[in-house]
Amino acid sequence: MHLQIIAAFAMLLWWPDQSPPDVWVSSPVWCTLLAWLNPAICILLARIFTRKVVSRLRTDQAAATRTLNSFHRKSGILRLILLAGVGADLFLTGHPGQLMASSYLSVLPGLPQMFLLLPYLMGMVGLWWVTFPVERASRDAGFLGSTSTRFEYVVFNVRHQLLIVAIPLSLIVIAYAATHENRAWFVQHTGSPWAPEAVLGFVATVLFIVSPVLLRYIWSTSPLPPGPLRDRLEALCARIGLRVSDILIWNSGGQLVNAAVMGIFPRVRYIMLSDALIDSMTEEETESVFGHEAGHVHHHHIPFFLLFALASMLVVSGIMELLTRMSQGVDAIWELDRQMIQTIGMAALLPLWGICFGWISRRFERQADVYGAWCASPHDDNAACKLPCCVHNDIDGQPGEGVCATGAQTFVGALRKVAFLNGIPPTEPSWRHSSIASRMAFLTAQSGDSMMALRFARKIRNIKRCLLACCLVGLIITGAYVGWHPGYRRDIVRSVVEPMRRLFN
Ligand SMILES: [Zn+2]
Ligand SMILES: [Zn+2]
Repeated sequence: MHLQIIAAFAMLLWWPDQSPPDVWVSSPVWCTLLAWLNPAICILLARIFTRKVVSRLRTDQAAATRTLNSFHRKSGILRLILLAGVGADLFLTGHPGQLMASSYLSVLPGLPQMFLLLPYLMGMVGLWWVTFPVERASRDAGFLGSTSTRFEYVVFNVRHQLLIVAIPLSLIVIAYAATHENRAWFVQHTGSPWAPEAVLGFVATVLFIVSPVLLRYIWSTSPLPPGPLRDRLEALCARIGLRVSDILIWNSGGQLVNAAVMGIFPRVRYIMLSDALIDSMTEEETESVFGHEAGHVHHHHIPFFLLFALASMLVVSGIMELLTRMSQGVDAIWELDRQMIQTIGMAALLPLWGICFGWISRRFERQADVYGAWCASPHDDNAACKLPCCVHNDIDGQPGEGVCATGAQTFVGALRKVAFLNGIPPTEPSWRHSSIASRMAFLTAQSGDSMMALRFARKIRNIKRCLLACCLVGLIITGAYVGWHPGYRRDIVRSVVEPMRRLFN
């Protein structure tokens, strides 16, 4: 869900400064109406199927899992329709241009952009509001549902799903609008035509680095109090060399069994365990979930995701540059305008992120699962592992490679609780994490098969090498292309080298 909200904001930044000349709808009344009609219809549909889901959960207990599965799928589709509405509003109607031109809204940089997103954001809030009865019904069916009132439930989701991404991204949109509208001022004072972009990049980087601190306060969190659990987790941190600023309890009012790690740098890195997770799991299971989050840090998953973002940016700019070249000059092959080229570039992002990012993310999750199992496996005492295990009970008596069966069993138990208590059917597919059932099966299989563990480790190594190679090759090609192209070379000298020289003199 977070990625969808990020995509909505990204579209705002992508929007060219003017509405395309041939928009489908240009009347201001119709534009406004259509922008709000989309969330209204989505909320109405959600209300209709919420009723059905609730009555089915009440009457047919045996089909509860299937009912919840279809509920998650349908609400997921509605959220995608909401997001598509933002795209349609931005690129097919005259709505953005009308809002930007409005004298009331343009008093503050970024306000027209935020107004454009308002129907989407209200649509999200509306969906939580109308689907709330499913929470109640799934609690009655034995899953973890909210005990709070409808209002508290919506506020909780707004804080945890929406604000956490919307606050930093709104700041970026405001910075974007402010630098864009005052472009002349920035250029004049720095002497670089690229100064507005540099300021925006700086703001975004700072926000990215301090975002864990923001998150600590947007979500309701508190430090994990001293006690056996904290001692155990701190001992684990010391054993695996993990540095975190604090271990936090994520107060969800018992609504959520979840854990998360935030932050690249140790000083602003937190590991969060939700209240319901701590209440429902044994210490070993909590340790294994903590180990999963630590695995993301240990295996550098966030930096590799940043490399993926860089690689996809290079690919898309490459495609757009190629199309621009082929659409210019006397022997142009195509006659594509700027708008069209941008649309193709954006369309290329969809398979890159939709397919490649999801695939890599699911592999990284499994690697973190393996690490979580490793953290929960017996370390000083081989005899503590009572299961047939390829690490501790290897046939030749040597400690083997791979995943310990006891550790795997602990983590699989934790996963089962996550699925059951959160009301996630284990077989429900997940684009970023893969289904819980498949993760359980994968870990169990690995704990009995050291060759499989080795193959998996090799696969992850290859993914990482491939990402590094893509970025490196992309950067070298970009560097060579820019250096070879006289126009770009002049731009770089004028916009970067000379202002830098002036700055340091
Ligand atoms: Zn994870
Ligand atoms: Zn073992």
